[in-house]
Amino acid sequence: MANHVVDASFTKRLPKVELHAHLTGSISVLTLHEIWKTRKAADAAFSMQDPLVALPLDKVSYDIVSFFPLFDSYIYDLCSSLSAIRFATEQVLRDFQADGVRYLELRTTPRENTLQGVTKELYVSTVLDVIDSFSHQQTEMSTYLIISVDRRNILEQAMQAVDLAIQFQNRGVVGVDLCGNPAKGDVSIFREVFDKAKAAGLKITLHFAEIPESSTREELRTLLSYEPDRLGHVVNVPDDIRDEIVSRQKDIGLELCMSCNVHAKMIPGSFGDHHFGYYWKDTQCSISLCTDDVGIFQSSVSNEYLLAAKHFGLGRDDLAKLSRRAVDSIFGGEAEKDRMRKLLSAFEKKEL
Ligand SMILES: [Zn+2]
Repeated sequence: MANHVVDASFTKRLPKVELHAHLTGSISVLTLHEIWKTRKAADAAFSMQDPLVALPLDKVSYDIVSFFPLFDSYIYDLCSSLSAIRFATEQVLRDFQADGVRYLELRTTPRENTLQGVTKELYVSTVLDVIDSFSHQQTEMSTYLIISVDRRNILEQAMQAVDLAIQFQNRGVVGVDLCGNPAKGDVSIFREVFDKAKAAGLKITLHFAEIPESSTREELRTLLSYEPDRLGHVVNVPDDIRDEIVSRQKDIGLELCMSCNVHAKMIPGSFGDHHFGYYWKDTQCSISLCTDDVGIFQSSVSNEYLLAAKHFGLGRDDLAKLSRRAVDSIFGGEAEKDRMRKLLSAFEKKEL
């Protein structure tokens, strides 16, 4: 029946959670362009390239080598002032809400900028201020924050990130993440960092097996020994490790980022070859479809659901089930799970 067709309007209306979204990578090119225009108007000597040129809207394909420098040497610089951080964060929240996201966990690596007078603490509190104010303006979408540890951090820097997460736990920080360029860093130095986060009641999510270099059995076993609550990407996972993840499916949720993995050429083949198919059909794992960096890959959460429908044959009821499966591994607690499940029940009653 025509009204049972899965289309973009349906996947946008479907109440969804987004659990793997980097704040900076989620800033749209148009928002970056607005920030660029403001800076250009305020300073004639401002010489950074226009984001519309640096990040063409029709380009979504990036290799993993060019991807990380894009942030390190361009987007972070462009958004280094407090006013830019505020503006960008608010626009990101608006974009997710407009896409039908009803529960959001944003993640960010605390950044400092001495020239702009921004400390890591001020950076995190500013992002949380914007989240607070946005939550007061509307009640449709709940938002929480995850603080990221960068793989390139030395132990002291990583510990500082976790201390900030603990400091701001009562303001909506719900977890700690391990992220950053997977070609760099030694993850085995972070055991006490994640132990401390867990002891404080924070949840743990880890970028996992993104590229072959970060997918040795040794690294993956080390990461699993940190007792993560969720894993992101899970691309290059040997069968025995995959079996272990599935055997721990009650404790470990999976954040799957199809467009990111395809456009950054992290998987061989295309959407139909993505490991989403395996975890959806052959396991009961909690799966969330996530954007990772919607500003770069230009694929919203609702579009990820549309891609799952298109490439794996999911119907309307499957997509609602998939959204429910993601709710199981949110970090925001039982009341938020209940709220999302009620939204989904009301939606199913009306639309299925
Ligand atoms: Zn990520």
